[in-house]
Amino acid sequence: MTAPDAPKRQREEKIRCDACPVMCYIAEGKAGACDRYANEGGKIVRCDPLTVLDRRIAAGDEVKPFLISDWDGQIVGGDDLFVSGIGSGTTYPDYKPAPFIVSRQIDGVDFVTVVTEAIFSYCGAKVKIDTDRHLGEETARVRSEGEVIGHVTTGEYGSQMLSLGGVDHLTGGSKAEGRATCDALMRLCNAEAVELTIDGGAEVRVQAGAAPVVDGHAEERMRVGCGSATIGMFASQWQGLVDEVVVVDDHITGVVSEHQAGKVLGWPDTGIRIQGRRSTPGRYFQVAHPGRGWGGTDIEDPLSILKDWNPKKGARPGLTLLMVSTTGEQWGYYVLDEDLVPRAADLPDTLRPSVDLIAENCEPALCTVMFQAGAGGSLRSGVTRNPVRLTRSVQALKTRVTCGGVPAYVWPGGGITLMVDVSRMPERSFGYVPTPALVAPLEFTLSRADYQALGGHDAKIRSVEDILAHGGEYGAAVRAVKPKP
Ligand code: SF4
Repeated sequence: MTAPDAPKRQREEKIRCDACPVMCYIAEGKAGACDRYANEGGKIVRCDPLTVLDRRIAAGDEVKPFLISDWDGQIVGGDDLFVSGIGSGTTYPDYKPAPFIVSRQIDGVDFVTVVTEAIFSYCGAKVKIDTDRHLGEETARVRSEGEVIGHVTTGEYGSQMLSLGGVDHLTGGSKAEGRATCDALMRLCNAEAVELTIDGGAEVRVQAGAAPVVDGHAEERMRVGCGSATIGMFASQWQGLVDEVVVVDDHITGVVSEHQAGKVLGWPDTGIRIQGRRSTPGRYFQVAHPGRGWGGTDIEDPLSILKDWNPKKGARPGLTLLMVSTTGEQWGYYVLDEDLVPRAADLPDTLRPSVDLIAENCEPALCTVMFQAGAGGSLRSGVTRNPVRLTRSVQALKTRVTCGGVPAYVWPGGGITLMVDVSRMPERSFGYVPTPALVAPLEFTLSRADYQALGGHDAKIRSVEDILAHGGEYGAAVRAVKPKP
């Protein structure tokens, strides 16, 4: 007669995690669907330790367990120790105070830091990729594992930008799209390498803090500036060494003899004629199509952007021409023949330093991942009984918002829409829940007087020392991390 009861008993041995809407039933010794919570001896615990940022950790010793036995129990003053949201647990389902509400004295003033791990259904990443190479048309779809997770947005100065994630990709598409978006965002925010493909464009490997890899080519340099800016910077160094210089750039190609910089230096006309649309003297738009060739164009032969030379405006046999890209990666030296056709020639030693100088003035090409999320929702109840007061306090700059101890930029206007550079956050700060949504550390710091004024959970305030000694609802494990510079 035992068989019919077995499933019921099995279910009874499991306990429910209520740290997100999935509400997993977790068996003893097992973890829930997100691997962030487990059943340990009949109690739901957080699998990762609470992370404290400890400025006292010596350089070269970036992470260490915070052992209570090592700690002399001394009160830790000022900014030396900061209890971050990483590993703290969550306020979800948002009827209760945040996992830790920490009191600290800084320069004689009582401060409170409200610490939680926020579940963000409204979140995404803005990705800056330092490259001139054309990654895809503006608004082209960006995919991970075949699913659309975002799009190409406006190009910036020397960088291509992607807008990834957001609530529409997390919740507004298919289940597979939501999962792929959540997975790609988490890996990007944890500074892992993620392969992205752009419809009608390139394949890019993106990793926060690392060089982008575009169609298998590891980018080294971020351009020195647009073609016009490059002319401005180096015109005086070319004077007297060459008759004409063209800096090839998909956005603004510069021509020194026509450019204002050349004019003020008294540079003579050369009769050069360029394809594309002339904006102002010596500055040309649309000399070719966007691509992965010279200066973010689709050309491999720079001469293809030149029209016939005009002898009435100074073109003559023997005239010398330097063509160079905005990174100094590509260059060519030419001499006009008797028919005023440019013929390739060896770059004179005198010009070599100017090409090298362009390359030297380029910064290393990197990927930057900014996590962007809305923290103006129900998690505010973990801070105060009157949520809008927290929003107002943040907007009035009385409450400082950090993610894993890193100051977040909060957008002006309504709500608490924050943005933070993930490469400054401690390693593996981000997690997920299968709803799908990202989980990220979040801390609100304000003076104790302001905290009381906004109706905070004053009775739940604890000292750092008490938290280190006794932990919280989800366990007592603590690790100490040296904050990144
Ligand atoms: S997915 Fe994770 S947080 Fe959500 S209920 Fe399951 S174990 Fe808890």
